[in-house]
Amino acid sequence: MSITLSSEAGTALDSGLYIVATPIGHLEDITLRAIAVLGQVDIIAAEDTRHSSRLLQKYQINTPLTPYHDHTNPTQRAKIIARLQQGHSVALISDAGTPLISDPGYRLVSEARELGIKVVPVPGACAAIAAICAAGLPSDRFLFEGFLPAKKGARLDALSARIDEIATLVYYESPRRLVDTLRDMIQIFGADRVAVIARELTKLHEQIKTGTLSELVGQVNADDNLRRGECVLLIKGCEVVRGEGLPQDAIAIMQTLIAELPLKQAARLTAQITGEKKNALYSWALSFQNDDEA
Ligand code: SAM
Repeated sequence: MSITLSSEAGTALDSGLYIVATPIGHLEDITLRAIAVLGQVDIIAAEDTRHSSRLLQKYQINTPLTPYHDHTNPTQRAKIIARLQQGHSVALISDAGTPLISDPGYRLVSEARELGIKVVPVPGACAAIAAICAAGLPSDRFLFEGFLPAKKGARLDALSARIDEIATLVYYESPRRLVDTLRDMIQIFGADRVAVIARELTKLHEQIKTGTLSELVGQVNADDNLRRGECVLLIKGCEVVRGEGLPQDAIAIMQTLIAELPLKQAARLTAQITGEKKNALYSWALSFQNDDEA
């Protein structure tokens, strides 16, 4: 498929680093602009050149490929930067989705920008965004957390740091670890917290399952398929409780402290002083602040 960008018709692509999103499953989830850019750049830097060559073949793109990964082989980055400095155009792609989103590219992009090299985003598929669009959880605020640590202790610490988070939490997870992760989430967020498993998005066996964390553990245990493929795990944020059940003295202390301190710190100190739950205090403070701003 040969596509020429309307803005670039008859002209070579400007020199620069193009960050190009590729499909996360369905091979047709690629933009016309992405196909044009990949066909016109001087070279494509890819996480796995063999993997990406299948996509390029489908769109009859013959641009040469070079391997790139942030952590292995720093000379690869130096070579790409040198080409950019010579005025060449380079596209960066990852195995799937948007580069830099839990994928290589951060070091290359930051170095290129420090050197004044033009960096151009060519947006498209991203599993986190696809999942939040279809999960049915609040999407006005969400926090992308990427992959949780593989070790249990570090994973529990990472989850604990989000105990009060009111935004929808978005995690990438390997289905192999799904049951362990869901169990850890029950420990931190409680068995009744609503969550969504969005797996194999845009692929043949796409599934989007909603339930409480304990219901989802049961379903994953009972269905081998839920432990296969790729998945995004979304957790509904902590409910904002409007101060129900909080004694007046706790509210009075919170009111005094939030005039001077960040909300989380005020909630922590009030919890220490009164023995009330930090979560409930924090939620009350948020609703208090929102009422004030309205
Ligand atoms: N850069 C990619 C993006 O834009 O989404 C993410 C790359 S990260 C190495 C791979 C993880 O993304 C998988 O382990 C999974 O959590 C998630 N993922 C990628 N493709 C997916 C899909 N089709 N369905 C569900 N999750 C997917």
